[in-house]
Amino acid sequence: MMEIKIERTATPKAKPEGALGFGKYFTDHMLIMEYTEGKGWHDARVIPYAPIALDPSAMVFHYGQEIFEGMKAYRTEDGRTLLFRPYENARRMNNSCDRLCMPKMDEDLWVECIKAAVAADIDWVPEEAGASLYIRPFMIATDPALGVRASNHYYFMVIMSPSGNYYPTGIDPVKIYIETEYVRAVKGGTGFTKCGGNYAASIKSQVKAHEAGYTQVLWLDGVHREYIEEVGTMNVFFKIDGEIVTPALEGSVLPGITRKSSIELLRKAGYNVTERRLSVHELEDAAHNGKLEEIFGTGTAAVISPVGELKINDEVITVNNGEIGPVSKWLYDTLTGIQWGRIADENDWTVEVKA
Ligand SMILES: *Cc1c(COP(=O)(O)O)cnc(C)c1O
Repeated sequence: MMEIKIERTATPKAKPEGALGFGKYFTDHMLIMEYTEGKGWHDARVIPYAPIALDPSAMVFHYGQEIFEGMKAYRTEDGRTLLFRPYENARRMNNSCDRLCMPKMDEDLWVECIKAAVAADIDWVPEEAGASLYIRPFMIATDPALGVRASNHYYFMVIMSPSGNYYPTGIDPVKIYIETEYVRAVKGGTGFTKCGGNYAASIKSQVKAHEAGYTQVLWLDGVHREYIEEVGTMNVFFKIDGEIVTPALEGSVLPGITRKSSIELLRKAGYNVTERRLSVHELEDAAHNGKLEEIFGTGTAAVISPVGELKINDEVITVNNGEIGPVSKWLYDTLTGIQWGRIADENDWTVEVKA
């Protein structure tokens, strides 16, 4: 395994006081590793958090060869620091690399990089209930050259941000509407990757949603504009007449680790979970027949985000009286219980980081 050098800051920052929010504060250190064609990944180091200098012609600025991941470190009541399924993030980033012609990384090295970064700033992992250290690994193309092609040099970096409880005043179901004008992804495109361009293209719909008084949009497939894909930057689940349905992974949906974990936990608990296509019409029918029992989004940031209101065309549908449903509640308690070490980790999903 490559040695990861550690250069500690001489001027540690004061820890933020008051509400942490999300993605506002950054820790004292960051990890950086370089890739050079013919040499591979090299020079992994944890260094003081600081701006980086890039040539204005660096390819990432022009052609968007950029991918990222999102994960958290959790502080348990007995003082341990846990990561949740980090090898899943490593694998997903390698799948993003493959699609964007960026250099893959050994999964063990990837997880070692995350651990080294978190270990350097372990005193930044918040202890308040529900707070965590958000971890943002990312990779950028840095060749100083124009012309569309794969870069020959890259940076892999890890930055970290202490973040507050996503639900400071308790879980509040969100209002969403179905986006029929813009699409997020199409089969054959980059929808299954966490590449920056996907998110740049989604901002317009987010602005529209906020202007209309909604929190998020429900994305439809780009071809038929008929089948449900995701909600905002979360995967989505529906409970219809006892069956739990989530869109199948056919290339345009992001394969969420919270999605995967939810499916595994639900199946283990005896629920009937189906990964399949679900049309807006089926959803409308279910709502009209009183069979739409719950809707919830899944993702690292919120873990489980219940949907209380859904707008389809001109009709507003209230889901489970606008309250969190029993399946959403059970999943939220179970997942957060495992992540914060409150309940037994029977699946060996957590990985401890030691300073
Ligand atoms: C990150 C992300 C998700 C959720 O993935 P998790 O691994 O569960 O955090 C879902 N959809 C999109 C578009 C995402 O970017």
